[in-house]
This record gives sequence, structure tokens and C-alpha cells, in this order.
Amino acid sequence: MPWKKETNPYYIWISEIILQQTRVEQGMPYFEDFVKNFPSISDLANASEDKIFKHWQGLGYYSRARNLHFTAKFITENLNGHFPDSYEEIRKLKGVGDYTAAAIASFAFNLPHAVVDGNVYRVLSRIFGIETPIDKSVGKKIFQQLATELLDKKAPGEYNQAIMDFGATHCKPKNPLCSTCPFSDHCIALTEDKIALLPVKTKKIKKKTRFFHYLMIQNGDSTYITRRSEKDIWQGLYQFPMIEKTNILPANELIVTPEWKKLFGNQKIEIQSYSKNFKQTLSHQYINAVFLVINLSGKFSPDYNQIIEIEKKNVNKFAFPKIITWFLSDKTLYLNFN
Ligand code: SF4
Repeated sequence: MPWKKETNPYYIWISEIILQQTRVEQGMPYFEDFVKNFPSISDLANASEDKIFKHWQGLGYYSRARNLHFTAKFITENLNGHFPDSYEEIRKLKGVGDYTAAAIASFAFNLPHAVVDGNVYRVLSRIFGIETPIDKSVGKKIFQQLATELLDKKAPGEYNQAIMDFGATHCKPKNPLCSTCPFSDHCIALTEDKIALLPVKTKKIKKKTRFFHYLMIQNGDSTYITRRSEKDIWQGLYQFPMIEKTNILPANELIVTPEWKKLFGNQKIEIQSYSKNFKQTLSHQYINAVFLVINLSGKFSPDYNQIIEIEKKNVNKFAFPKIITWFLSDKTLYLNFN
């Protein structure tokens, strides 16, 4: 991994934020692209949010990118561009929680702070047979205390990296490699046959299901997009004009909705195609989306002031949610939309 043995706090910060909700294999190319395009804190601070989102596109959880930008500006403007070098100051940065602060403090500054991520919870709960739920505050406290007691204070960065790597590659969630494990003689989960039960989690996330109808309106060389400004998923990303309903509607029902009337009034349009249902699963939501390619001629002036007219050929310059890029990359579905 390119950030291994790295001591530059800026690079460690970027890699840790990317890895907060992303697997290493998926995050690695993003990390390389990100530090190439924003090689320093000031480069990131001075970049536009649109540019940052474009490089983040596909990683999801865009609040991470927004917080990176905010924090880069904060460090540039308030800390003379110097990354803070104490755990307490690092922890105060926007988007940095206990785990990320401990990772940066130990990897960059060799400070004695133990990291507790999903891998550490798994390793410790199994070896010590701890059944306290890891998603309750009492559980978090127990694991943090234990991790801190076990930490090698002389080499905290190396120790933290080692325990996380051990969890990721050896004591894996499924099929851990117990037969070659150095802890097998005293691992409680192994001796008491509790591997599949540990770590314990109590909360089940109730997911909401949503139904989006995206309208790709073609008008000569133009098409139209909007920026998601409301406090909702994908805030700050672009999308085609969208109608959300409580289920997916066929075209003949969609065209009589108030939202459709607000967009097109009595304007003459032709629905060129209606896509299959695209699905995306987010941490708290299931998204269903269909895409209607619509031909329109003449002036388009909807009763909706946030519409941005762009040239169709520039559509890929904007940062869209993944469900839209899936659709755009499937050329067979939008045929002459280019
Ligand atoms: S013996 Fe198995 S469950 Fe226990 S720590 Fe080793 S790999 Fe994990």
C-alpha cells in the first residue's frame, strides 16, 4: 500500500479518511490520484469543491470529501499550513474521530495512541472472548482501554499497523486462519467455538427504500442538470432533473404528476427511452432509479430555477452519484445521448 511507512501527516490523513468507509483495494487508486492532483494541504485548500468531488466520484460518503476540503482550508488559514502534531489537536479537526486521530498521531508522530477499528475489535473480542457489544458506549470503552493497555508504547505506529493488518489478513471476519495463528493456544473464541459470534453487534440499521426518476432531457446539443443542495444523500453532487415518488412509476403515470407539469408544463416532448431499474445500496438507504431520455425542441424554461444547461458532450465533466455514472457508462441504454 502506498501509504505504508508514510510519515507525512497529510498523506496519512487522506488515506485514513478514504479508508473510513472504503476497502483498501478500492481506495488505493483514489489515494494515488488524490495526492497526485492535490499534492499538499494548500493545493487541496485552494481547489474548488467541484474538482474535489470529481476526484472523489465513485467513493461514496461525500461528506468525507467535504470535510477534507473544510479542514485543508482551516489548516491553511489558521495553522499556517502546519498539520497539528498532538492527538488532542488532530482530534479537533472536522471529520476526524477517535480512530483516525489515533492513526495519524501514531503513524505520523509516533505518539502512544491505540487505534480501534473494525479489525481491532474483531481480533481483541476473539482472543479475549469479549461479548460486550462493540456498538454500545460501554463496549467501545472496554475495547479502547484494552487496546491502550496492549499498545507497544515504544513503537505505537508499527504496533497499530500490525494489529490492523493481522485482523485484515489473518483473523478475517469469515474463515480466519486459525491453524497458522500464533494466538491459537489461548484464543477464547477458538477454544470455545465462538468465532462466528464475535464481535457482538446489537444495532440493526433500518434501511429506507427510495425511488428516483431521472430525466435526461436532450435539446439540440444541450442537456440539463441540477446540483443537490439539500441536506440529503449526495449533497453537492450533480444529477439530471429528478422526480422522487414512493414507487417507480411507468411513463404514462409519471407525465401526469405535478412535478412533471412543473418541469414541462404543456411543452411538446418525446420520451425516447425508459431504462431498466438501476439499484444502489447505501449504508442507510436502498436506491431504485429509472432514466427517461427525453427529446425536447425549443426553449426550455421550467418553473424550477436551479436547472443548469450544459453541452451534452461535457456531461462527464461533472461529479455524479454512482447510480448515474453506471447509467451513463451503459451506452446501449442512451444510444444517441452523446
Ligand atoms: S485463533 Fe483464529 S479467531 Fe483466534 S485470533 Fe487467531 S485467527 Fe483469530
